[in-house]
Amino acid sequence: MFMPNTKETAVTKRDEALAKIDDYFDSGHFEKELARRISYKTESNLTGCETVLASYLEDEMIPYLVELDFECETYPNPRQDAGPFLVARRNESDDLPTVMTYGHGDVVAGYDGQWDNDMNPWAITKRDNRWYGRGTADNKGQHTINLAALRSVLETRERLGFNVILLIEMGEERGSPGLKDFCAKHKHLFQADVFIASDGPRIHPDKPTIFMGSRGVFNFIMQLNVHDGGHHSGNWGGLLTNPGVVMANAIASMIDKNGKILVDGWRNTNIPSSVRSAIAKLEVGEGENAPQINPVWGEPDMTPGERVFASNTFEVRAFETGNPKSPANAIPPSAVVYGHLRYVVGTKVDQLMPLLRAHLDRHGFQDIEIISERDPMYATRLDPDHPWTQWAIASLNKTNGENISVLPNLGGSLPNDVFADVLGLPTIWVPHSYAGCSQHAPNEHILEGTTRSALRLMTGLWWDLGSGNAPKHAKNVSQ
Ligand SMILES: [Zn+2]
Repeated sequence: MFMPNTKETAVTKRDEALAKIDDYFDSGHFEKELARRISYKTESNLTGCETVLASYLEDEMIPYLVELDFECETYPNPRQDAGPFLVARRNESDDLPTVMTYGHGDVVAGYDGQWDNDMNPWAITKRDNRWYGRGTADNKGQHTINLAALRSVLETRERLGFNVILLIEMGEERGSPGLKDFCAKHKHLFQADVFIASDGPRIHPDKPTIFMGSRGVFNFIMQLNVHDGGHHSGNWGGLLTNPGVVMANAIASMIDKNGKILVDGWRNTNIPSSVRSAIAKLEVGEGENAPQINPVWGEPDMTPGERVFASNTFEVRAFETGNPKSPANAIPPSAVVYGHLRYVVGTKVDQLMPLLRAHLDRHGFQDIEIISERDPMYATRLDPDHPWTQWAIASLNKTNGENISVLPNLGGSLPNDVFADVLGLPTIWVPHSYAGCSQHAPNEHILEGTTRSALRLMTGLWWDLGSGNAPKHAKNVSQ
């Protein structure tokens, strides 16, 4: 007996917007748009790139955005040696929610000539399920997806139902010079209810993912200079301190052989229950070319997922004494360790150096000098139970048809503190790439299936943002 199910057969306007974005992809328009953006050699790490960095905004992004009724303004970078910022706004009504979104138009060096099959980094080459080209994954593909999804909603609904503030920077691959100062100085430009943007990898190419922050990273150097030069070990061995041995003992005092941190105050074992239960649903350490994980490495009494997403981890990145390339029979003059700590929200980053100093002094390593390598990247994390997180999860699940993966924060680091701390916004990232995308090497690529699904997810998300059931304005909540 045939029973029509009106609920399932009725095509909603949301479905129409999704069909429109499928068509945009299937008809080759996405490829055309992305190829045009990939052709700009926006290698921000190379000197002489200033003209093309500005041109990406002026000649590519602004004409596209003006057509969608954005008001566009470019601003010089407060750092004279760095690329400009584009701020584009589309305002429908002050009563509607406002989303801030973000992308970066710069890429790392193209490494022309080093790609497989002599592929051109500045064009799209399709092979099987992969689309190769510099910036396809990081970040031109990702902001192209998000803006195309926005346009699909606009064309279907004839309005968005929300306001948008878009920031595009041209220096992310250089560590976002000037971004923090620019946002701090122009806070009034970024009054929004929520931040939603895309960069970085999904947890697995087939598993749509959101993350709400990232671990921070604190880089430092430990240096021990004992002698002016090397001394013959036959004449002096037994009489002179070996700095390599002292340094090895210092490291051993800081971390045990299973990766447990021993420096007082450096561990962070406090995991909020909402974060713990989000992590429990994730599978970690999977994927193409993934190395074998060590189940007993790191913070004891934690799961592997908790260790990488919710604990602090210390690494010796490099350690040198003497001349490893040509070892002499000598006592080396010095030893150096390049270390770093990845850390989660709740860790007092300005205490990390003093705590290490106190630890080394207490263990008799007063002669080891500690040098902070550069400004730390700060840790951020929005609670998985936050109303905006829950709203985003529901929307993405609705489009995806099954549960998406929720990372409270990335294990890696990104400048999310600018948006979360300086601008005070709830931050939600929907990454469209995957860990094997070679984003900073030759052969950068996106996956066709992942990209098509990302276009749908973002169309659904923007649609739902304008449907009137998004969480209340932050402005109203705080009053
Ligand atoms: Zn990058």
